[in-house]
Amino acid sequence: MNDTPFTIEHDQAVAMLEQLAGLSGLSRSREGNDRSRNGASDGKSHGWQPELRFRSLIEKLPVVTFMAGLDGSRQDFYVSPQIETLLGFTQTEWMDNPILWYRQLHPDDREKWVEEFSRTCATGSQFRAEYRLIARDGHIVWVQGDCQIIRDEHGQPIFFQGIAVDITHLKRAAEVEEEKLKAEAASRAKSEFLARMSHEIRTPLNGVVGMIDLLSATGLSEIQQRYTKLAREAADSLLAVINDVLDFSKIEAGKVEVEAIEFDLHKVMEDLTELLAPSASKKNLALACLLRPEVPHRLIGDPNRIRQVLTNLVNNALKFTAAGYVGMRAELQRREGQHTFIRVQVEDTGIGIPADRLDRLFKSFSQVDSSTTRKFGGTGLGLAISKHLVELMGGEIGIESEVGRGTTFWFTLKLGAIAGAAADIGPAETLRNVRVLAVESDATYRRLLAEQLRGRFSAESEIVGVENAINLLRKANEAKNPFAVALIPYRSNGRSQLNNAIREDPTLRHTKLIAVLDIDDRADAEAISQAGFVAELHRPFLQSRLLDAITTATVRRTTTAKSGRAGSGATHESLAGLHLLVAEDNEMNQFVTQETLRRAGCTCDIVGDGSLAIEAVEKRRYDGVLMDCQMPGVDGLEATRRIREREVAGGAKRRIPVIALTAEAIHGDRERCLEAGMDGYVTKPINAADLFATIGALVKDKKEAISAAEISSPRSAASEKTSSLPGAAPAPPIAAAESPIDVAALLTRCMSDADFAVKTLEKFQKRAIDDAGLLRAGVGAADLDGARRLAHNLKAVAAHVGAAPLRAIAFEIEQAGIRNDLQFMQEQLARLEDEARRCALYVPEAIIKLGAMSKAKGTPN
Ligand code: ADP
Repeated sequence: MNDTPFTIEHDQAVAMLEQLAGLSGLSRSREGNDRSRNGASDGKSHGWQPELRFRSLIEKLPVVTFMAGLDGSRQDFYVSPQIETLLGFTQTEWMDNPILWYRQLHPDDREKWVEEFSRTCATGSQFRAEYRLIARDGHIVWVQGDCQIIRDEHGQPIFFQGIAVDITHLKRAAEVEEEKLKAEAASRAKSEFLARMSHEIRTPLNGVVGMIDLLSATGLSEIQQRYTKLAREAADSLLAVINDVLDFSKIEAGKVEVEAIEFDLHKVMEDLTELLAPSASKKNLALACLLRPEVPHRLIGDPNRIRQVLTNLVNNALKFTAAGYVGMRAELQRREGQHTFIRVQVEDTGIGIPADRLDRLFKSFSQVDSSTTRKFGGTGLGLAISKHLVELMGGEIGIESEVGRGTTFWFTLKLGAIAGAAADIGPAETLRNVRVLAVESDATYRRLLAEQLRGRFSAESEIVGVENAINLLRKANEAKNPFAVALIPYRSNGRSQLNNAIREDPTLRHTKLIAVLDIDDRADAEAISQAGFVAELHRPFLQSRLLDAITTATVRRTTTAKSGRAGSGATHESLAGLHLLVAEDNEMNQFVTQETLRRAGCTCDIVGDGSLAIEAVEKRRYDGVLMDCQMPGVDGLEATRRIREREVAGGAKRRIPVIALTAEAIHGDRERCLEAGMDGYVTKPINAADLFATIGALVKDKKEAISAAEISSPRSAASEKTSSLPGAAPAPPIAAAESPIDVAALLTRCMSDADFAVKTLEKFQKRAIDDAGLLRAGVGAADLDGARRLAHNLKAVAAHVGAAPLRAIAFEIEQAGIRNDLQFMQEQLARLEDEARRCALYVPEAIIKLGAMSKAKGTPN
């Protein structure tokens, strides 16, 4: 085909279209139309009108077909009747008025259309464009136009023809998609902005809260205290809202990640119960934490996010419950390979939620109705955040509720499991045979107690009202199946009579009594003890507390209800009132040192490294410093050197006594300490008598020194052995059947105080397993220094509880670390882990032994 260019300018094109319309006389005779439609020729036309046989086909297609002559003649114009469906104008209207095409073109698309048309005419190429037409009723129709110039046999353009296809739906879909993307981008930008803003607001607000706290500790008048309390409350609620907004926006911006670290779900839930107990108590609500014993203690997940979800659910439950109780539960659903599935539930006896509102609650900013905001406040974000977090942790969240009866929110968690028996060590094992009598008249508490005792203590444990307690105790005795422990509410009616009846019946003496008190009941410990109780237990009942109280009651013959001064009979009074600084990086040693000092009436501040010790000594006056020699960063020797340098440089009048705490006990160690400027030297594991004697001798401005002889618990053979171990000498061989912990040595070291010894053991139990794990990680990462320090710490901890075999292995590993013998360290790891596990598993038995020993020694009240 001869494609002679047929150039047409924009204006020409418009003029041509206008001509087509025959602007002077738009009316075209119906006759003409009909003629055209029938394909009849009037002699002037080019004879291109569609043939009848094609017309029926063309007029059925779902597109508009059109053609127009290029000489401006109107009779050469044709448009198919589908135009009516497309734009609402009839075919006749259109053909009578061809300029309509141009007129109905969207003004913004005219130029583009004309340009394309001109290009087609100029180049002979296909016309192809997407453009908008305005329909009769004003709505916009997107069409794709395709047309071409048709030429005669000489290549002269004679007309153009084409189709217009309705693409409105495609355009709409694309527009919607684009709008969606834009909206998402805008929402992300908003969330990022919110996150940044909330963070910016939170930082100074934290400052405000801190300052209010400082202010309220400055001896304010009553009215000033009230104002600061109100300011603190307002700041707290503002902080809560900001935290919600921050979290929500972080989630929206996809910036929340969940951690996978080891944690104890029991501890997370119990700590939260303790934290929220005062709010429950203010509303007179019972708060319960019911964890089934099968829920493992050691799991891998994100404790902070779990705490956040629980806090939100429990706070809501407390907010929407006026009477009754709020409870948290956790149960093991199943274990599957590396995963442990736990179901957690928060239930209340509150107002409930109507069934038709349940599904909207997890959407952001939604509350049951607007009156909720007015009455209870809140943002409606908490549940939306909780849902996101639970889903991020691989779980689901749901709700069941009944108006007027209460609500239960539940969620599931997919957590990592820790392989091996050590994961589930709890002190409960040995208590399974303890038969407990719980005295309780309140129906709610009875139900909760029953759940807490189930599966943990003897199945023959019972719950009764005060009035029936004495009979049941006697019956159990007669049946030779006495109760080991009785839990008795201290403030209940009839409690004194019950105590008297028990006291007067000599056959009931071996049932140990535990006083149950409300959370904030600061009853007189002496009075409780005199009433015959051996331990106290505060509500809300936490499993760990219940176990502690029952352990205390069953392992000690008698004790004051509150753990007070040690019963060693030592006359530590000459040290009472001393305030010391303890520089020690090992958490367990910190605990032991602090507890030992407390028993002599000393108080102490604790810092974890040498540079903090230097700072502390400069800031505050201490009567003396107990300085661990081996600490990360600035060690004890270096810290002491610097303290002495500063004393000299500053012309200090007083030389602060510094006592070295060292686990080394190697020859020349004492000299090194003295050279560094230390005044005394106590080897670890700490022997209380040694420590007190050394402090007494060095802290001169206090009364007189206490002598080792004054301490009623002299060094045991075992402690003698451990404290004088020459460091370079090989560790003593481990006898296969040797018991992992020397309980007698431990008790002596804890000044014959079984309570102190039990607490020390419990700390050790977790520590031993944890440190063994960390040590493996350290050796695995070839971190010789870190691994050596861990071995050193573990050695000290083991020595303190009298775990000689564990101490020996840790010692060997430490020595290998000093020699840079990574391979030997690696080889010893399994041995160390086995021994740590053996120790941890032995703890319950050790606790029982401690009980028996303290009975035999006749620990005084
Ligand atoms: P907020 O408490 O800040 O309003 P949430 O998303 O935590 O936001 O809760 C949304 C709404 O769900 C609450 O306003 C309340 O209407 C309802 N709701 C949540 N928990 C309970 C509950 N335990 N009992 C009754 N209604 C509840």
